Order: sequence, then structure tokens, then C-alpha cells
Amino acid sequence: MKILIVGAGFSGAVIAERLVNTLDCEALVIDERDHIGGNCHTARDRSTNVMVHTYGPHIFNTDNLEVWEYIQRFGEFHSFINRVKIVYKGQVYSMPINLHTINQFFGKTLNPREAREFVEGLSDKRIGEPKNFEEQAMKFIGKDLYKAFFYGYTKKQWGCEPSELPASILKRLPVRFNYNDNYYNNPIQGIPVNGYTSLFEKMLDHPKIKVQLNTRFDEGFDTSGFDHVFYSGPLDAFFNYKHGRLSYRTVFFERHETEGDYQGNPVINYSEETVPYTRVHEHKHFTPWEQHDKTVYFKEYSKETGEGDIPYYPKRLAADMEILAAYQQEAEKLKNHTFIGRLATYRYMDMHHVIAEALAAASEFAKNRG
Ligand code: UDP
Repeated sequence: MKILIVGAGFSGAVIAERLVNTLDCEALVIDERDHIGGNCHTARDRSTNVMVHTYGPHIFNTDNLEVWEYIQRFGEFHSFINRVKIVYKGQVYSMPINLHTINQFFGKTLNPREAREFVEGLSDKRIGEPKNFEEQAMKFIGKDLYKAFFYGYTKKQWGCEPSELPASILKRLPVRFNYNDNYYNNPIQGIPVNGYTSLFEKMLDHPKIKVQLNTRFDEGFDTSGFDHVFYSGPLDAFFNYKHGRLSYRTVFFERHETEGDYQGNPVINYSEETVPYTRVHEHKHFTPWEQHDKTVYFKEYSKETGEGDIPYYPKRLAADMEILAAYQQEAEKLKNHTFIGRLATYRYMDMHHVIAEALAAASEFAKNRG
């Protein structure tokens, strides 16, 4: 059996690895870029030798033990806790909002119980079930914390009013009434010691997997020799945009390097609209087990995805959801095709979600075809 896999990110790599190891098949993995790993790709910076997350910070975190067991087969991880800072009006706060943020912002020394009562008192009581990002914020943290830490950042990040965005985007972040400043809630958090690319190299290193880079999947690509296609590229591109384009935000980076330590933390967010970038990441802090005299950091900017830009964040506005439904109807009718991952299902997914779904898709396929 011959399998075509479009995209060498986590979806494609997991599917390829699982299928060749569980079925009698050969897999061709194609990717239009000149490297494997999709947006999780990492590479050593030529000038500083720091391991850089080429498409922005990726901190692996999960509560799924099956995913965790699986991914560790391809490389060692070091535990890594992401502690994000945020600059607002000349002060540095801790993010996500926790007791330190609340006490510092309001100039108080509240304990957890007092803080909870205090923040509940700030909530907009008129809101029942929050219908969007803004209502979610106004209901759970009130106007002042929302305006300081979310409004400007979100407008820069998404290019629209937070009231147009789904509440689910804000639900990604916890609000804590203790001093826990860990960015994530998941119990397992880490970074691969040798970078993400090394995981992909190991996953794809198999005599029955062939990887072809710089290869675009378009109408001209001949799929006739394949029994099945797993597609992890953008859904609208697969159908040549016939129902219109799904909207995405993309990010781009301004690179800087200097001696020593630039900002003393891996990620610092900037919530004010007057600062044009959303955050600054200094990548040597993602590998605290390495020593580097020089440092490289990136200012991250956000914009709408145009032709040729890399799609990052699915916006899922009302108009997008109509277009999505039209593509999904067509996709369901296609035999021998599976659409997987963030771009082909047009969902905001973390690495561990992508891996879990790819494992499930591979096992379902193997069960039916094995
Ligand atoms: N967000 C914000 N201020 C922050 C951090 C996040 O307003 O300091 C909002 C923003 O809209 C962002 C969303 O919360 O898109 C989710 O944040 P997360 O850190 O999960 O985004 P990611 O790491 O996926 O870019």
C-alpha cells in the first residue's frame, strides 16, 4: 500500500511513523518548505549557536500520558516551566493573571480568599453566558484587568476587536488566586533537549518513509499511484480557494542579537497598543541547560495572512465558519482522503492536540486497512 502524506509537521510525521510501523505500507511525505517539522521547526542560530524556534516559541505541554510516552521515544525532554512577564505602562507584571499580578496592579496585599472576592466584585454581573472574548474577560476579571492585559494585546494579535473573537481564545489562559505563575495548567511541560527538529528526524527516519521537501501539493500533483492521502495543509488551498479564503493571522519576527542576557526571561509580552509588537522572545532562555555568551531575540509582530504568508492562527470569525462548512462538505465526500491537523481542520490546536489526533487517525486507519 502506498500512502501520500502532505505536510511534515506533527500531523504528517506521526501518521507516517505510525503507519509504516503498524502496516505493510510505504509513505511519501511531501512538504513545500525546505525543512521538516512545520511550524515546530528549530535550528541553531548561525551567529550565536542558540537553538531557535524558527516560527516562534513552542513549549510542549500536555496532560495526555499516551502522547507523552509516544513523543519521548524520539528524543529526551528537559522539564521547562514557562513563566511569562508582561509590560504595561512602565511596570513589569506576571502573566497569566495570578495573585502577584492582582496585588501589584491594585497596590494591595490580598490573600487568595480576599483576592477572589475582590476580583468577583469587579466582574460585570450583567453578562450571563459570555458570547465572545470581551464578555468572557468582563465577566471573569472585570474592566481594569481586561483593558490592561488583554485588550491591547489581543487587538494587536488578532487585528480586530476582542468582541468579535470567540470566548474560547481567552479560556486558554488561567486566572489564579495564588502565586503560581506557570503559564500552563498541564502537568507535563518540557522542551526537547536537542530541539524539535531532531524529534522529526527520528520519527521520519525509516526505510519505508520517503521525505520530499520543496514540493508543493497543488492541482498538478499526481495522486493516482497512492491508496490514501493524509492532507495537513490549509483546507481552502486543497480546494483551490473555490469557496473563498479562510482567514488566519500570521506573525513575523524582527531579529536582534547582543552580548549576555537581553531581557532575563524567555517571553515578555507588551500589552499596550502604542508598542507595535506583541511580545519579545529570547531563545537561549528556552534551553537553560546550555551556556551561550551571545544572545538572539525576536520582536514578534502580527498581521493578516496574505498570499505567500504562513498561516498561523485560524480566526474562525462568523464568515470563516460559513466558508469552512462549504469546504468540509466537499472534504467529507472525498474517498481515500483524511484531513488532519491545525490547517486542514482550521482549528486553534496545540502540539499535544495535534499529536493525539494524528495517533488516533493512524490507529483508526490501521484498524480498517490492516
Ligand atoms: N493574550 C493577551 N495578553 C497576553 C497573553 C495572551 O491578551 O499577555 C490573549 C491573546 O488574545 C492570545 C490569547 O490570549 O491570542 C491566547 O494566548 P496564548 O498565550 O494561549 O496564545 P499563543 O501562545 O497560542 O500565541
